[in-house]
Formats: sequence, C-alpha cells, structure tokens
Amino acid sequence: MAANELNDLIPMSEWLPGITLERPLIIGGPCSAESAEQVMQTAKEIKALNKVDIFRAGVWKPRTFPNNFEGVGSIGLSWLREVKQKTGLPVATEVGSVQHVYEAIKYGVDLIWIGARTTANPFAMQEIADALKGVNIPVLVKNPLSPDLELWDGGINRIYAAGIRKLGAIHRGFSSWGKTELRNTPHWQIPIELKRLHPNLPIIGDPSHICGNRTMIEEIAQRAMDFSLDGLMIESHCNPDAAWSDAKQQVTPLRLGEILGNLKMKAETTDNPQFNRTLEELRLQIDSFDDQLLSILENRMKIAEKIGMYKKENNISILQSTRWSDIIIKMINKGANKGLSDKFISEIFQSIHEESINHQINITKKKE
Ligand code: PEP
Ligand code: MN
Repeated sequence: MAANELNDLIPMSEWLPGITLERPLIIGGPCSAESAEQVMQTAKEIKALNKVDIFRAGVWKPRTFPNNFEGVGSIGLSWLREVKQKTGLPVATEVGSVQHVYEAIKYGVDLIWIGARTTANPFAMQEIADALKGVNIPVLVKNPLSPDLELWDGGINRIYAAGIRKLGAIHRGFSSWGKTELRNTPHWQIPIELKRLHPNLPIIGDPSHICGNRTMIEEIAQRAMDFSLDGLMIESHCNPDAAWSDAKQQVTPLRLGEILGNLKMKAETTDNPQFNRTLEELRLQIDSFDDQLLSILENRMKIAEKIGMYKKENNISILQSTRWSDIIIKMINKGANKGLSDKFISEIFQSIHEESINHQINITKKKE
C-alpha cells in the first residue's frame, strides 16, 4: 500500500462514543499501574483537574533489563475498569502481543497504544494487527526507538490494513548513544514528515519519554503544540518519587494541571486576510531565497568540477585537507558575526564539501 493512502481515517473527535475529543487530546496517568490504590488515587486527582481526556496506565512493561518490574498484568486492567466506573474517564493501556490485545478488549479498555519497542518489530506488529481485525478500538502507534520514519509508517500501515480507522501516532522521541540532555531526541522533522504523508493521522506528543526528567516537560509539551501536534500523553503519578518505573519523568497531577494550564495554543490558520497576505509575502521571500540558495549551490558545484578536472590534469589528489579545515574555520567565524550557530555552519559546510567531492569524483570519472 502506498504510504499516503490513509485518507479515510475517522477523526479523533469521533473516536469514543459519547465523548467529543478536541485538539489537544490529553492522555495522562502513571507510567505503570502498581496497585489498586495508586491507580485510583492518581485517577481521582487527574479527574479533578478537568483537563485530561483519557487516563493511561501500563500493565505490561517492556523493560530493558530482566528482573525489573514488568508490570502487574491483567489485574491492572480491572483497576482501570474501576477508574472508568468511578470517574467516567476512558482508559488506555499499552499492548505488545496478541494476548495483550485480547485481555485489553476483554476488560473494556477504551484505547490502546503500541510501544516503541514493539513498533520496531514487524513480526509483532503484524500479529497485533491480525488480532485487531474486526475490532473497533482507537489505536495509537508510538514511533520505533530508532529515527526510522519508514518503520514507523510501516507499523501504522499494518494496523490500518487490519481495518482500524481510529488510528493515530505517538511521537516519543528516538534513542541515541551517549548522554544527552533529553532521554529521547525528538527529531521533530520526522513527525512533521509523517503528518505531511498522512494529513488525517493525528499525532500525539509524549513529552515524558522525550524528556526523561520533570523539568523540561512543559517546554517540550509547548514545542509539540507549536509544531501542530494533535495532543499530548504525559505521565503523572500520585507520588512520582515512589513510582516503580520512569520515576524521574513523572509529575504529580497538580503539576500536570499547571503544565496543561500554561500551554499556549496557536491556530494553524486564520481567516484574517491581512495576516494571510503578510504571511504569504514573507513565504514568497523565503521561497525566493531558497531558489537563490539552489542556484548558488549549482554554480559552486560547477566550479568544484572545474577544479576536479584541473587537479586531474596535473596529477593532484582530490582532497587537500588543510584547505578544507581552513574553509570551515573561516566560515564558522564569519557565520558567528551573522548570528549563525557553529553547529549549523559546520553541518552545512560539511555537506557542501561532501557534495563537492562527489562532483569532482564523478566528473573526473566521466571524462576517463
Ligand atoms: C510508556 O508509555 O510507558 C512506554 C513504555 O513508552 P515507550 O514505548 O515510548 O518507551
Ligand atoms: Mn513510561
């Protein structure tokens, strides 16, 4: 199936009977269900905020190391059922296998999501998709751990092909090696590209798993809204320090309320004609600069090709490393005066250099 054929999805607003879900869809609740008391206490505090649409709790936890807490299992689903009865909040949990799907449906879970580790495995995704045939439940697919848009999209397409039309994605960031400020790097261009491929597919941001800490959740939640994502999933626990999983990133329901209260929603479009005209003019300027950039690059590559031929005629190697490091240093200094960051300048010139070398190699090969 072509990637962009997900055009008959059911809008998020119609996912749950009797409830009109609006952007931003807010899913809140603990990383894991731990006990009947912890689940109910957290749910009551979350309900009191009047800002959360769906209560979440994981009952099967895919843990990196064995012997860590792996979730309470199906008994947790009976606690979720009680939450639904007592608070009226719809409930959601993660599924990672066919058995999980059957159990979640049996206990009346309202929405399921597929975790990052599962999305990365096409066998598991296909089995889950097969188990979902004929089931009318909203399904959210988290991005895989690696920044691989196709793997994410492929997983989404498997669920779609099983007939699920209440379908969405969750952006929870991507793993990277080494210590980073955020637990999972967001690479926002990936969910934005997913949105471009499937404009009808709601994408929910998961600041908790992106951040891995409590302090940056508000900033990342706001960023997700600024990038026009359709909702947020935020982990919240009645006693975060004592949580059995992801303790560092969970916030109290009180703090969750503050974070949600501080969100500034910006409209993506407006009917104001003056605004639209001004925006259009500014965009035309950007387009014109982009065209200029392309022709500058084209001309630069032509010169690189000439240099390549000239070096070949004189038996000189393509790469002179000192010349190259001089260029980078010079450009970083010049860029700093123009308000352009070191990182940006070195990345952009690194790529220009690679492209130049390829042009030099290709032109000299062609003329052989
Ligand atoms: C979770 O939502 O608690 C979870 C396990 O998330 P992820 O799959 O994003 O790691
Ligand atoms: Mn978690």
